[in-house]
Amino acid sequence: MQDRFNVTPWEARGKIDYDKLIQEFGVERLTPELISRMGRLAGGLHPLLRRNFFFAHRDLNLVLDDYEAGRGFFLYTGRAPSNSPMHIAHIVPFIVTKWFQEKFKVNVYIEIPDEEKFLAKKVESLEEVEPYVKQDILNIIALGFDEDKTFIFRDTEYISKMYRPAVKIARLINFSIAKAVFGFDGETSIGLIFYPSLQIVPTLFEEKRPLIPCGIDQDPYFRLQRDIAPRLGKHKTAEILSKLVWGLTGPETKMSASEPETAVLLNDPPGIVKRKIMNAYTGGRASIEEQKRLGGVPEVCTVFHWYSVLFEDDDKNLEERFWACKTGKLLCGECKAELIRRINRFLEQHRENAKKAEEKMHLYLYDGKLAQEMWNWNFK
Ligand code: SF4
Repeated sequence: MQDRFNVTPWEARGKIDYDKLIQEFGVERLTPELISRMGRLAGGLHPLLRRNFFFAHRDLNLVLDDYEAGRGFFLYTGRAPSNSPMHIAHIVPFIVTKWFQEKFKVNVYIEIPDEEKFLAKKVESLEEVEPYVKQDILNIIALGFDEDKTFIFRDTEYISKMYRPAVKIARLINFSIAKAVFGFDGETSIGLIFYPSLQIVPTLFEEKRPLIPCGIDQDPYFRLQRDIAPRLGKHKTAEILSKLVWGLTGPETKMSASEPETAVLLNDPPGIVKRKIMNAYTGGRASIEEQKRLGGVPEVCTVFHWYSVLFEDDDKNLEERFWACKTGKLLCGECKAELIRRINRFLEQHRENAKKAEEKMHLYLYDGKLAQEMWNWNFK
C-alpha cells in the first residue's frame, strides 16, 4: 500500500511522491529541453538544476522568453524566522536564487515574514522569533547576494508599504478558496487567513514577471497569486520548484529544526555535526563483511543524498562515490567521516561570511540601490 503523504507550506508528512504532487498541484515537470535552454542562456547550470533537484515549474519558459526578448524578470523568495536557527535545507532556495541573480543580473526581493510562525501557532510569541530574525538575514546575505540588486525586508517593519497592495489582494481571495488551498479550519487564526496576501505582495514589486525558486511545499501561495494577478493587471508569478532535502532520519523525510536529529543547523558546532551524521540513516548493510560482499544502497542513503544536493559539486566524483558504495568498495564510516569534514568546512566559512555580513546588512535593508528604491515604492 502506498504511504499517505501531506505537503503544505507549514508541514510535510509521510513519504513524498513527487509525481503525484506534480499532478495534485497542477505544476509542470522541468523537461531536459527547458533545463538545457536555461543552461545555454546562463552559460552553465548549477548542480541543483543539473541533477534535477529542481524538478518542476510554472511558466519558466515564459521567464526565459522574457529574458531573451530583453524584457527581463525579477526574483522573489523568503524565509519565515522561527524560534530556532536555520538549517542546511533552508539555504537551498537561496543558493539557487543567488545563482539566478548572478547569471541573469536581475533584482532579488527577499521577504522575512517575521509574523508567519506566530500566526501559524508554531511559536508562542513574536518575541521568541526576534533573536533569530537578524541571524537569518545575515545567513542569507552570507550566501553572496549583490547588495545593489537585493532588497531584504521584514513584514512587521515594511508593512506600511505592503498594506495597500495587501488589501487589494485580500479582497480578491474568497475564504472558500483559501480554505481549499491551505486546509484552514475552525482553529486557524484569522491572522493566518489574511497572511497569504502579504506573501503575494512582493510579486507585484515590478512590472516584470516574477520568478520564485522555492520548495514545492510553498507552491500553494503562488497558485493563489496566479488566480488573482490578471485581475490586478499584473504578471502571474513563475516558479521553479525543488524537492525537499531529506532529513537525516530517512529517505523522502523533511528536515525540521524542531526535530534536531533530522537536520544540521547552521550554528551546530563540529561535535554536534559529527554526532548527527554518525547517527544518520544510511543505505549501509548490517556488517562490514556484508557491505563488502553486497555493496550499499546509495539510492536510499541520506548521507549520499546530502552529497548529491550540497556537498559534491563534481558530477564525476559523485558518480564514483555511487559506484564505490554499490560495489562494496566504500564503507559507511569513511563516507560519513568525509561528509562531516565537508559540512564542518562549509559551516565554518559560512559563519565567517555571516559575521562579515553584519557590516553591510544596512545596504540590503535600507541603503543599497534597490533598497532605497523600494522604500520609495508606491503601489498603484
Ligand atoms: Fe551511504 Fe556512503 Fe554507506 Fe553508501 S557508503 S550506504 S553512500 S553512507
